[in-house]
Amino acid sequence: MKFIFARTAWHPTALLMVLTLWLGTVGNFPFWMAIWKLPETQGLRALTTMGSLWLILVGLVCWFLCLWVWPRWLKPAAVVMLMTVASSSYFMLTYGVVIDPSMLANVAQTDVREVRDLLTWPMLAALTLGVVLPGVWLWRQPVQAVNAKPLILRQLGVALLAFVVAMGVFWVTFQDIASLTRNHKQLRYMINPFNSIYAVTRFFVGQASLASQPLQVIGQDAQLAEPVQPVLVPVSVPAIDRAPLMVVVLGETARAANFGLGGYARDTTPQLRKLQAQGDLTYFSDVKSCGTSTQASVPCMFSHLGKSDFEGNNQRFESVLDVLQRAGLAVLWLDNQSGCKGVCERVPNVSTTALKVPEFCKDGECLDEVMLHELPKQLAALDPAKRAKGTVVVMHQMGSHGPAYYKRSPAELKQFKPECSSNALQNCPPEQIVNAYDNSILYTDHFLAKTVQWLQAQARPTSLLYVSDHGESLGEKGLYLHGMPYSFAPKEQIHVPMLVWLSRPMLKLRGWNMSCLQAQSAKELTHDNLFHSVLGLSQVKTSLAKPELDLFSACAAGR
Ligand SMILES: [Zn+2]
Repeated sequence: MKFIFARTAWHPTALLMVLTLWLGTVGNFPFWMAIWKLPETQGLRALTTMGSLWLILVGLVCWFLCLWVWPRWLKPAAVVMLMTVASSSYFMLTYGVVIDPSMLANVAQTDVREVRDLLTWPMLAALTLGVVLPGVWLWRQPVQAVNAKPLILRQLGVALLAFVVAMGVFWVTFQDIASLTRNHKQLRYMINPFNSIYAVTRFFVGQASLASQPLQVIGQDAQLAEPVQPVLVPVSVPAIDRAPLMVVVLGETARAANFGLGGYARDTTPQLRKLQAQGDLTYFSDVKSCGTSTQASVPCMFSHLGKSDFEGNNQRFESVLDVLQRAGLAVLWLDNQSGCKGVCERVPNVSTTALKVPEFCKDGECLDEVMLHELPKQLAALDPAKRAKGTVVVMHQMGSHGPAYYKRSPAELKQFKPECSSNALQNCPPEQIVNAYDNSILYTDHFLAKTVQWLQAQARPTSLLYVSDHGESLGEKGLYLHGMPYSFAPKEQIHVPMLVWLSRPMLKLRGWNMSCLQAQSAKELTHDNLFHSVLGLSQVKTSLAKPELDLFSACAAGR
């Protein structure tokens, strides 16, 4: 009797087919949802398109798995595939992102804090449904012991058949599918598990080839130009306290659309607006980022290559900070984020994220003002000979980093309420997400204004240049966060705020007038302008400089 209830053991290839069907169907839920919602696939057309895509997708998954999943590691491999597909599906469904090499670079560069911000109950539920349940079922299935030779022949035969079917259907429906993927490029990055496999391979091959490249020195001829007006502050003041101090604030995830100075309906930048009204600050209203993520933008912003050359390039170059340092300036990088992505490696750099300053730090992270708190001490530690010529400081903000926007502003500054106080954005009404985000911009306004106040109090020429690394989606078209491939990223992820404040002593020292910047405030600018403008602002001369990209060259010309 007991034999009747005994489970028949699976042939390994048959169990692999069950996994194939799961991955192709359930595991690609976001892809099928996306196809279903397309305007050109409605009614009967949706069914035929989805039918042929399903045959192609399942055929390719089957071909792929049959080539390398053999009985010895069938179950562990299945669990890895389930995890890959479930987590990729979860992020695609929740945040509208797609999985491409730059998204993987973000994942690889992420730190514990960022992961903690992403862990939510819905994520746990998704992993239970997508990994634990099918994983446990699959793990408990008995598998037949079969001879190697017939198994290999059979499985390779299945692989070939699956490939032929997939290619056949693809050939028949080519017109249809080609136009679909041409019009909706994001679909290509939604196909599990190939999107993840492609991203992982591209990322690691890219990393390995870059790491093997020697570092290329740039701007070897860099030197400081003679100041136009040699002495402003009495000579009795030591040179170290007379030399200019230039601060660059590298913003995080601030989008121009929600920046008060950029015309947003809410005044999210009241303090900066006051500085603008005094005529000391210029806001640039049309600035495009180099990438849609920190990982893609930051190295590009500080590179001399500019977006187009930077992207095609596979060599390792120094950054503008190396050039400034070579010209004799003191350089400092303060980081309240997940690192400088390689651009500050050869200059003094300090991370402030793990500091324990009770006023600004809580639960292992700090508000951006902690950098201002640290600044005097860190400046004093720089080489005095260099400081006597001038100092450039970069402060890398935590800014509006999501999805936990509510953590980016202190309680007393939260003006827009109620705000979404969960990192599971999908659980919050859209206006609460925007409130939390706007509060983070309000805090950036506060941080920048406080930096300006501190700079004003210094008896020396000072300046502040602020630019965000990329924007953010707050639910427009179902998208959240950032990191969309640039070619089809929405403008919210690309259009970034940028501004310059110059102290009166700085204007005097350089012989500039604020109107030369104001004349450019509506000009089309990009992150390509940063490298050259930093050189212009700090008066570093090098053959690398491109005056047409330097915002300050117009000021120098009108002197
Ligand atoms: Zn960023």
